[in-house]
Amino acid sequence: MAATAVKPLADRLDELRDWLARETPRDLPYDLDARFPRLVEWQRKLYDAGWLGYGWPAEFGGNGGGPTDKVILSVELARAAAPVPAGTIGLEVIGPTLTRFGTDAQRRRFLPPMLRGDEIWSQGFSEPEAGSDLASLRTRAEKVEGGYIVSGRKTWTSWGQFARWCGVLARTDPDVPKHKGISLLMVDMESEGAQTFPLVQMTGDAEFTETLFERVFVPDENVVGQPGDGWNLALDILAHERGPLVVRRQVEIAVGFEGIVENARRLVAAGVLADDARLRERVGRAWAQLRMLEAYAAGLMGHLVHGDLGPEASIGKRLVTEVEQAVFELGFDILGASRGLAEDAVPGMNADKWTRDYLYSRAASIYGGAAEIQRGIIAQRVLGLPRA
Ligand SMILES: Cc1cc2nc3c(=O)[nH]c(=O)nc-3n(C[C@H](O)[C@H](O)[C@H](O)COP(=O)(O)OP(=O)(O)OC[C@H]3O[C@@H](n4cnc5c(N)ncnc54)[C@H](O)[C@@H]3O)c2cc1C
Repeated sequence: MAATAVKPLADRLDELRDWLARETPRDLPYDLDARFPRLVEWQRKLYDAGWLGYGWPAEFGGNGGGPTDKVILSVELARAAAPVPAGTIGLEVIGPTLTRFGTDAQRRRFLPPMLRGDEIWSQGFSEPEAGSDLASLRTRAEKVEGGYIVSGRKTWTSWGQFARWCGVLARTDPDVPKHKGISLLMVDMESEGAQTFPLVQMTGDAEFTETLFERVFVPDENVVGQPGDGWNLALDILAHERGPLVVRRQVEIAVGFEGIVENARRLVAAGVLADDARLRERVGRAWAQLRMLEAYAAGLMGHLVHGDLGPEASIGKRLVTEVEQAVFELGFDILGASRGLAEDAVPGMNADKWTRDYLYSRAASIYGGAAEIQRGIIAQRVLGLPRA
Protein backbone atom coordinates (compact mmCIF):
# COMPACT_ATOMS: atom_id res chain seq x y z
CA MET A 1 0.00 0.00 0.00
CA ALA A 2 1.34 3.44 -0.93
CA ALA A 3 2.21 5.83 1.89
CA THR A 4 -0.27 8.60 2.72
CA ALA A 5 0.32 12.32 3.36
CA VAL A 6 3.56 12.28 1.40
CA LYS A 7 5.53 15.28 0.13
CA PRO A 8 4.31 16.87 -3.13
CA LEU A 9 5.90 15.20 -6.11
CA ALA A 10 7.44 18.51 -7.21
CA ASP A 11 9.64 18.30 -4.07
CA ARG A 12 10.76 14.76 -4.92
CA LEU A 13 11.75 15.25 -8.54
CA ASP A 14 15.41 14.30 -8.15
CA GLU A 15 14.43 11.22 -6.19
CA LEU A 16 11.87 10.24 -8.85
CA ARG A 17 14.35 10.75 -11.70
CA ASP A 18 17.03 8.69 -9.93
CA TRP A 19 14.51 5.94 -9.24
CA LEU A 20 13.33 5.88 -12.85
CA ALA A 21 16.91 5.85 -14.16
CA ARG A 22 17.57 2.80 -11.97
CA GLU A 23 14.32 0.87 -12.19
CA THR A 24 12.79 1.48 -15.64
CA PRO A 25 12.71 -1.86 -17.46
CA ARG A 26 14.63 -1.64 -20.75
CA ASP A 27 14.29 -5.16 -22.05
CA LEU A 28 10.55 -5.60 -22.59
CA PRO A 29 9.58 -7.84 -25.49
CA TYR A 30 7.49 -6.25 -28.28
CA ASP A 31 5.11 -9.18 -28.51
CA LEU A 32 2.06 -8.06 -26.53
CA ASP A 33 1.28 -11.40 -24.87
CA ALA A 34 4.83 -11.60 -23.54
CA ARG A 35 4.95 -7.87 -22.79
CA PHE A 36 1.69 -7.50 -20.89
CA PRO A 37 2.67 -9.41 -17.70
CA ARG A 38 5.84 -7.30 -17.58
CA LEU A 39 3.72 -4.15 -17.80
CA VAL A 40 1.66 -5.41 -14.85
CA GLU A 41 4.88 -5.99 -12.88
CA TRP A 42 6.01 -2.48 -13.81
CA GLN A 43 2.77 -0.94 -12.57
CA ARG A 44 3.05 -2.78 -9.22
CA LYS A 45 6.62 -1.63 -8.86
CA LEU A 46 5.66 1.98 -9.52
CA TYR A 47 2.80 1.77 -7.06
CA ASP A 48 4.66 -0.10 -4.32
CA ALA A 49 7.51 2.43 -4.55
CA GLY A 50 4.94 5.13 -3.78
CA TRP A 51 4.88 6.93 -7.16
CA LEU A 52 1.69 5.85 -8.86
CA GLY A 53 -0.63 6.93 -6.04
CA TYR A 54 0.10 10.62 -6.63
CA GLY A 55 -3.03 12.58 -7.52
CA TRP A 56 -5.37 9.86 -6.19
CA PRO A 57 -7.34 10.13 -2.92
CA ALA A 58 -5.39 8.88 0.09
CA GLU A 59 -8.46 7.15 1.56
CA PHE A 60 -8.81 4.99 -1.57
CA GLY A 61 -5.28 3.74 -2.03
CA GLY A 62 -3.62 6.89 -3.37
CA ASN A 63 -1.06 9.31 -1.93
CA GLY A 64 -3.35 12.32 -2.02
CA GLY A 65 -2.08 15.36 -3.91
CA GLY A 66 -3.72 16.73 -7.01
CA PRO A 67 -3.61 17.04 -10.77
CA THR A 68 -0.17 18.72 -10.71
CA ASP A 69 1.30 15.54 -9.27
CA LYS A 70 -0.35 13.44 -11.97
CA VAL A 71 0.97 15.71 -14.71
CA ILE A 72 4.50 15.63 -13.26
CA LEU A 73 4.47 11.85 -12.97
CA SER A 74 3.24 11.29 -16.50
CA VAL A 75 5.82 13.71 -17.97
CA GLU A 76 8.68 12.16 -15.98
CA LEU A 77 7.67 8.63 -16.98
CA ALA A 78 7.58 9.66 -20.62
CA ARG A 79 10.93 11.47 -20.35
CA ALA A 80 12.52 8.37 -18.88
CA ALA A 81 11.12 6.42 -21.86
CA ALA A 82 9.39 4.22 -19.29
CA PRO A 83 6.72 1.84 -20.58
CA VAL A 84 3.08 2.74 -20.06
CA PRO A 85 1.73 0.70 -17.11
CA ALA A 86 -0.63 -2.19 -17.88
CA GLY A 87 -3.63 -0.54 -16.26
CA THR A 88 -3.57 2.67 -18.29
CA ILE A 89 -7.25 2.46 -19.27
CA GLY A 90 -8.11 2.34 -15.57
CA LEU A 91 -5.65 5.09 -14.66
CA GLU A 92 -6.36 7.53 -17.48
CA VAL A 93 -9.87 6.69 -18.68
CA ILE A 94 -12.19 5.04 -16.14
CA GLY A 95 -10.49 5.86 -12.82
CA PRO A 96 -10.77 9.68 -12.86
CA THR A 97 -14.52 9.50 -13.59
CA LEU A 98 -15.03 6.80 -10.96
CA THR A 99 -13.20 9.02 -8.47
CA ARG A 100 -15.51 11.94 -9.24
CA PHE A 101 -18.85 10.18 -9.64
CA GLY A 102 -18.54 6.81 -7.88
CA THR A 103 -19.89 6.10 -4.41
CA ASP A 104 -17.47 5.68 -1.50
CA ALA A 105 -18.16 1.95 -1.58
CA GLN A 106 -17.26 1.82 -5.29
CA ARG A 107 -14.11 3.87 -4.80
CA ARG A 108 -13.06 1.68 -1.87
CA ARG A 109 -13.66 -1.50 -3.82
CA PHE A 110 -12.24 -0.52 -7.21
CA LEU A 111 -9.56 2.16 -6.92
CA PRO A 112 -6.83 0.39 -4.89
CA PRO A 113 -6.55 -2.67 -7.20
CA MET A 114 -6.89 -0.38 -10.24
CA LEU A 115 -3.95 1.74 -9.06
CA ARG A 116 -1.70 -1.22 -8.32
CA GLY A 117 -2.57 -3.06 -11.53
CA ASP A 118 -4.04 -5.95 -9.55
CA GLU A 119 -7.20 -5.51 -11.61
CA ILE A 120 -6.97 -4.35 -15.21
CA TRP A 121 -9.77 -2.32 -16.77
CA SER A 122 -11.06 -1.89 -20.28
CA GLN A 123 -13.42 0.61 -21.87
CA GLY A 124 -16.51 -0.87 -23.54
CA PHE A 125 -17.91 2.09 -25.46
CA SER A 126 -17.54 1.53 -29.24
CA GLU A 127 -19.75 -0.94 -31.07
CA PRO A 128 -19.73 -2.24 -34.63
CA GLU A 129 -22.47 0.30 -35.49
CA ALA A 130 -21.63 3.04 -32.97
CA GLY A 131 -18.20 4.69 -32.93
CA SER A 132 -18.18 8.43 -33.58
CA ASP A 133 -21.94 8.39 -33.16
CA LEU A 134 -21.64 6.73 -29.78
CA ALA A 135 -25.14 7.66 -28.63
CA SER A 136 -26.53 5.18 -31.20
CA LEU A 137 -25.16 2.29 -29.14
CA ARG A 138 -27.34 -0.82 -29.03
CA THR A 139 -25.99 -2.78 -26.07
CA ARG A 140 -28.94 -3.16 -23.71
CA ALA A 141 -29.07 -3.35 -19.92
CA GLU A 142 -32.46 -4.61 -18.88
CA LYS A 143 -33.60 -3.99 -15.29
CA VAL A 144 -34.17 -7.11 -13.20
CA GLU A 145 -34.37 -7.75 -9.46
CA GLY A 146 -31.11 -6.51 -7.88
CA GLY A 147 -29.41 -5.42 -11.08
CA TYR A 148 -29.32 -5.49 -14.87
CA ILE A 149 -28.96 -8.07 -17.62
CA VAL A 150 -26.49 -6.77 -20.21
CA SER A 151 -26.60 -8.01 -23.81
CA GLY A 152 -24.68 -6.67 -26.77
CA ARG A 153 -21.42 -6.46 -28.66
CA LYS A 154 -18.59 -3.98 -28.16
CA THR A 155 -15.56 -3.60 -30.38
CA TRP A 156 -12.04 -2.12 -30.41
CA THR A 157 -11.83 -2.80 -26.66
CA SER A 158 -8.17 -2.02 -25.93
CA TRP A 159 -6.48 -4.77 -23.92
CA GLY A 160 -9.93 -6.34 -23.42
CA GLN A 161 -8.45 -9.84 -23.22
CA PHE A 162 -6.45 -8.86 -20.13
CA ALA A 163 -9.18 -6.93 -18.34
CA ARG A 164 -10.97 -8.13 -15.23
CA TRP A 165 -13.40 -5.17 -15.40
CA CYS A 166 -14.98 -3.34 -18.29
CA GLY A 167 -16.66 0.08 -18.07
CA VAL A 168 -19.63 -0.54 -20.36
CA LEU A 169 -22.02 2.01 -21.81
CA ALA A 170 -25.42 0.36 -22.24
CA ARG A 171 -28.95 1.47 -22.97
CA THR A 172 -31.06 1.15 -19.82
CA ASP A 173 -34.08 3.04 -21.15
CA PRO A 174 -35.02 2.60 -24.82
CA ASP A 175 -38.09 4.87 -24.46
CA VAL A 176 -36.34 8.22 -23.95
CA PRO A 177 -34.22 10.29 -26.42
CA LYS A 178 -31.06 8.35 -27.26
CA HIS A 179 -28.61 10.42 -25.17
CA LYS A 180 -30.76 10.08 -22.07
CA GLY A 181 -31.33 6.34 -21.74
CA ILE A 182 -27.67 5.31 -21.38
CA SER A 183 -25.91 4.14 -18.20
CA LEU A 184 -22.31 3.32 -17.28
CA LEU A 185 -21.94 -0.13 -15.74
CA MET A 186 -18.85 -1.80 -14.33
CA VAL A 187 -18.97 -5.33 -15.69
CA ASP A 188 -16.99 -8.17 -14.16
CA MET A 189 -15.45 -9.92 -17.16
CA GLU A 190 -15.34 -13.16 -15.18
CA SER A 191 -19.18 -13.21 -15.23
CA GLU A 192 -20.99 -15.90 -17.15
CA GLY A 193 -21.81 -14.66 -20.66
CA ALA A 194 -18.89 -12.19 -20.97
CA GLN A 195 -16.37 -13.10 -23.66
CA THR A 196 -13.54 -11.43 -25.57
CA PHE A 197 -12.23 -12.21 -29.06
CA PRO A 198 -8.82 -10.67 -29.85
CA LEU A 199 -8.52 -8.57 -33.04
CA VAL A 200 -5.10 -8.33 -34.71
CA GLN A 201 -3.87 -4.87 -35.79
CA MET A 202 -1.40 -4.13 -38.57
CA THR A 203 1.40 -3.97 -35.97
CA GLY A 204 0.84 -7.72 -35.57
CA ASP A 205 -0.43 -7.36 -32.00
CA ALA A 206 -3.94 -8.23 -30.92
CA GLU A 207 -4.19 -5.05 -28.90
CA PHE A 208 -7.95 -4.94 -28.79
CA THR A 209 -10.92 -7.27 -28.74
CA GLU A 210 -14.45 -7.67 -29.81
CA THR A 211 -16.29 -8.04 -26.51
CA LEU A 212 -19.50 -9.99 -26.27
CA PHE A 213 -22.08 -9.79 -23.49
CA GLU A 214 -24.70 -12.53 -23.56
CA ARG A 215 -27.17 -11.90 -20.75
CA VAL A 216 -24.50 -10.87 -18.25
CA PHE A 217 -25.83 -10.02 -14.79
CA VAL A 218 -24.52 -6.75 -13.31
CA PRO A 219 -25.61 -5.86 -9.75
CA ASP A 220 -27.16 -2.45 -9.01
CA GLU A 221 -24.12 -1.40 -6.99
CA ASN A 222 -21.99 -1.53 -10.16
CA VAL A 223 -23.84 1.32 -11.88
CA VAL A 224 -21.74 4.51 -11.83
CA GLY A 225 -23.77 7.62 -10.97
CA GLN A 226 -27.52 7.35 -11.52
CA PRO A 227 -29.11 5.11 -14.17
CA GLY A 228 -29.46 7.33 -17.25
CA ASP A 229 -26.35 9.42 -16.38
CA GLY A 230 -24.19 7.41 -18.78
CA TRP A 231 -23.96 9.98 -21.55
CA ASN A 232 -22.71 12.72 -19.23
CA LEU A 233 -20.22 10.30 -17.68
CA ALA A 234 -19.03 9.28 -21.15
CA LEU A 235 -18.47 12.94 -22.06
CA ASP A 236 -16.55 13.40 -18.81
CA ILE A 237 -14.38 10.38 -19.64
CA LEU A 238 -13.75 11.44 -23.24
CA ALA A 239 -12.93 15.03 -22.27
CA HIS A 240 -10.59 13.96 -19.49
CA GLU A 241 -8.75 11.25 -21.39
CA ARG A 242 -7.63 13.69 -24.12
CA GLY A 243 -5.70 16.17 -21.95
CA PRO A 244 -3.48 13.63 -20.13
CA LEU A 245 -2.98 11.75 -23.40
CA VAL A 246 -1.65 14.87 -25.15
CA VAL A 247 0.64 15.75 -22.24
CA ARG A 248 2.14 12.25 -22.06
CA ARG A 249 2.27 11.60 -25.77
CA GLN A 250 4.06 14.84 -26.72
CA VAL A 251 6.96 13.89 -24.45
CA GLU A 252 6.99 10.32 -25.78
CA ILE A 253 7.13 11.67 -29.35
CA ALA A 254 9.96 14.06 -28.43
CA VAL A 255 11.92 11.15 -26.94
CA GLY A 256 11.15 9.15 -30.09
CA PHE A 257 12.39 12.02 -32.25
CA GLU A 258 15.77 11.97 -30.49
CA GLY A 259 16.06 8.26 -31.29
CA ILE A 260 15.17 8.92 -34.92
CA VAL A 261 17.85 11.61 -35.25
CA GLU A 262 20.33 9.22 -33.66
CA ASN A 263 19.38 6.56 -36.22
CA ALA A 264 19.80 9.08 -39.04
CA ARG A 265 23.30 9.91 -37.77
CA ARG A 266 24.22 6.22 -37.61
CA LEU A 267 22.92 5.50 -41.10
CA VAL A 268 24.59 8.57 -42.61
CA ALA A 269 27.89 7.66 -40.92
CA ALA A 270 27.60 4.11 -42.30
CA GLY A 271 26.99 5.49 -45.80
CA VAL A 272 23.51 3.88 -45.96
CA LEU A 273 21.57 7.17 -45.91
CA ALA A 274 22.32 10.27 -47.98
CA ASP A 275 22.74 13.43 -45.91
CA ASP A 276 20.83 15.57 -48.38
CA ALA A 277 18.82 18.78 -48.15
CA ARG A 278 15.50 16.93 -48.24
CA LEU A 279 16.37 14.83 -45.20
CA ARG A 280 17.57 17.90 -43.31
CA GLU A 281 14.40 19.77 -44.20
CA ARG A 282 12.16 16.96 -42.92
CA VAL A 283 14.13 16.63 -39.69
CA GLY A 284 13.99 20.41 -39.19
CA ARG A 285 10.28 20.54 -39.92
CA ALA A 286 9.55 17.73 -37.44
CA TRP A 287 11.65 19.49 -34.81
CA ALA A 288 9.69 22.73 -35.33
CA GLN A 289 6.36 20.86 -35.13
CA LEU A 290 7.47 19.31 -31.86
CA ARG A 291 8.32 22.71 -30.36
CA MET A 292 4.88 24.00 -31.37
CA LEU A 293 3.22 20.97 -29.79
CA GLU A 294 5.24 21.40 -26.61
CA ALA A 295 4.09 25.01 -26.33
CA TYR A 296 0.45 24.04 -26.78
CA ALA A 297 0.78 21.15 -24.31
CA ALA A 298 2.23 23.54 -21.72
CA GLY A 299 -1.01 25.54 -21.91
CA LEU A 300 -3.08 22.34 -21.62
CA MET A 301 -1.11 21.33 -18.53
CA GLY A 302 -2.15 24.62 -16.95
CA HIS A 303 -5.81 23.79 -17.64
CA LEU A 304 -5.37 20.25 -16.30
CA VAL A 305 -3.83 21.57 -13.10
CA HIS A 306 -6.63 24.12 -12.64
CA GLY A 307 -9.30 21.57 -13.57
CA ASP A 308 -10.80 23.78 -16.29
CA LEU A 309 -9.83 21.91 -19.44
CA GLY A 310 -12.51 22.46 -22.09
CA PRO A 311 -12.93 21.67 -25.78
CA GLU A 312 -9.44 23.03 -26.54
CA ALA A 313 -8.24 19.52 -25.59
CA SER A 314 -9.40 18.63 -29.11
CA ILE A 315 -6.87 21.09 -30.58
CA GLY A 316 -4.20 19.30 -28.56
CA LYS A 317 -5.43 15.93 -29.79
CA ARG A 318 -5.30 17.08 -33.43
CA LEU A 319 -1.82 18.58 -32.98
CA VAL A 320 -0.39 15.58 -31.19
CA THR A 321 -1.80 13.30 -33.88
CA GLU A 322 -0.33 15.31 -36.75
CA VAL A 323 3.08 15.57 -35.10
CA GLU A 324 3.10 11.91 -34.08
CA GLN A 325 2.30 10.77 -37.60
CA ALA A 326 4.89 13.11 -39.18
CA VAL A 327 7.66 12.17 -36.72
CA PHE A 328 7.18 8.41 -36.89
CA GLU A 329 6.78 8.48 -40.66
CA LEU A 330 10.15 10.24 -40.76
CA GLY A 331 11.60 7.52 -38.51
CA PHE A 332 10.23 4.85 -40.84
CA ASP A 333 11.46 6.55 -44.02
CA ILE A 334 14.93 7.05 -42.58
CA LEU A 335 15.26 3.29 -42.14
CA GLY A 336 14.61 2.99 -45.88
CA ALA A 337 15.26 -0.39 -47.43
CA SER A 338 17.08 -1.51 -44.29
CA ARG A 339 13.78 -1.90 -42.43
CA GLY A 340 13.17 -5.10 -44.37
CA LEU A 341 16.36 -6.71 -43.04
CA ALA A 342 16.16 -9.32 -40.30
CA GLU A 343 19.19 -7.73 -38.61
CA ASP A 344 19.71 -3.98 -38.14
CA ALA A 345 21.71 -2.44 -41.02
CA VAL A 346 23.70 -0.61 -38.35
CA PRO A 347 23.95 -2.17 -34.87
CA GLY A 348 21.58 -0.75 -32.24
CA MET A 349 19.20 0.86 -34.71
CA ASN A 350 16.20 -1.11 -33.51
CA ALA A 351 14.35 -1.08 -36.84
CA ASP A 352 11.57 -3.28 -35.48
CA LYS A 353 10.62 -0.69 -32.85
CA TRP A 354 10.52 2.19 -35.35
CA THR A 355 8.43 0.19 -37.78
CA ARG A 356 5.91 -0.57 -35.02
CA ASP A 357 5.87 3.05 -33.89
CA TYR A 358 5.13 4.17 -37.43
CA LEU A 359 2.33 1.63 -37.92
CA TYR A 360 0.81 2.45 -34.52
CA SER A 361 0.90 6.18 -35.23
CA ARG A 362 -1.71 5.65 -37.96
CA ALA A 363 -4.25 4.81 -35.21
CA ALA A 364 -3.82 8.20 -33.54
CA SER A 365 -6.28 9.86 -35.92
CA ILE A 366 -8.96 7.32 -34.91
CA TYR A 367 -8.73 6.51 -31.19
CA GLY A 368 -9.95 8.94 -28.54
CA GLY A 369 -12.28 10.49 -31.15
CA ALA A 370 -11.50 10.47 -34.89
CA ALA A 371 -9.82 13.46 -36.60
CA GLU A 372 -13.02 14.74 -38.23
CA ILE A 373 -14.84 14.59 -34.91
CA GLN A 374 -12.10 16.63 -33.21
CA ARG A 375 -12.29 19.19 -36.01
CA GLY A 376 -16.06 19.37 -35.53
CA ILE A 377 -15.58 20.05 -31.80
CA ILE A 378 -13.01 22.76 -32.56
CA ALA A 379 -15.32 24.38 -35.14
CA GLN A 380 -18.43 24.36 -32.98
CA ARG A 381 -17.26 24.56 -29.40
CA VAL A 382 -13.97 26.46 -29.62
CA LEU A 383 -14.74 28.74 -32.58
CA GLY A 384 -18.53 28.89 -32.11
CA LEU A 385 -19.27 28.12 -35.77
CA PRO A 386 -22.75 26.82 -36.63
CA ARG A 387 -23.34 23.10 -37.29
CA ALA A 388 -23.11 22.27 -40.99
C1 LIG B 1 -5.98 1.87 -31.30
C2 LIG B 1 -7.43 2.05 -30.96
C3 LIG B 1 -7.86 1.78 -29.67
C4 LIG B 1 -9.22 1.92 -29.34
N1 LIG B 1 -9.62 1.58 -28.06
C5 LIG B 1 -10.93 1.65 -27.75
C6 LIG B 1 -11.38 1.22 -26.46
O1 LIG B 1 -10.59 0.80 -25.60
N2 LIG B 1 -12.70 1.27 -26.19
C7 LIG B 1 -13.61 1.74 -27.09
O2 LIG B 1 -14.79 1.79 -26.76
N3 LIG B 1 -13.22 2.14 -28.33
C8 LIG B 1 -11.90 2.10 -28.67
N4 LIG B 1 -11.49 2.48 -29.94
C9 LIG B 1 -12.50 2.84 -30.91
C10 LIG B 1 -12.54 4.31 -31.28
O3 LIG B 1 -13.06 5.08 -30.23
C11 LIG B 1 -13.40 4.41 -32.55
O4 LIG B 1 -12.70 3.73 -33.58
C12 LIG B 1 -13.63 5.84 -32.96
O5 LIG B 1 -14.50 6.47 -32.05
C13 LIG B 1 -14.24 5.93 -34.37
O6 LIG B 1 -15.36 5.11 -34.48
P1 LIG B 1 -15.50 4.07 -35.70
O7 LIG B 1 -14.26 3.24 -35.75
O8 LIG B 1 -16.80 3.36 -35.54
O9 LIG B 1 -15.50 4.94 -37.00
P2 LIG B 1 -16.74 5.75 -37.60
O10 LIG B 1 -17.43 6.49 -36.51
O11 LIG B 1 -17.55 4.81 -38.42
O12 LIG B 1 -16.00 6.79 -38.51
C14 LIG B 1 -15.47 6.44 -39.79
C15 LIG B 1 -14.93 7.72 -40.42
O13 LIG B 1 -16.00 8.64 -40.61
C16 LIG B 1 -15.72 9.88 -39.97
N5 LIG B 1 -16.94 10.45 -39.39
C17 LIG B 1 -17.83 9.82 -38.58
N6 LIG B 1 -18.81 10.67 -38.21
C18 LIG B 1 -18.53 11.87 -38.79
C19 LIG B 1 -19.15 13.15 -38.77
N7 LIG B 1 -20.27 13.37 -38.08
N8 LIG B 1 -18.57 14.15 -39.47
C20 LIG B 1 -17.43 13.95 -40.18
N9 LIG B 1 -16.80 12.75 -40.24
C21 LIG B 1 -17.33 11.73 -39.55
C22 LIG B 1 -14.74 9.54 -38.86
O14 LIG B 1 -13.94 10.65 -38.49
C23 LIG B 1 -13.91 8.44 -39.52
O15 LIG B 1 -12.92 8.99 -40.34
C24 LIG B 1 -10.15 2.36 -30.30
C25 LIG B 1 -9.71 2.66 -31.60
C26 LIG B 1 -8.37 2.50 -31.93
C27 LIG B 1 -7.93 2.81 -33.33
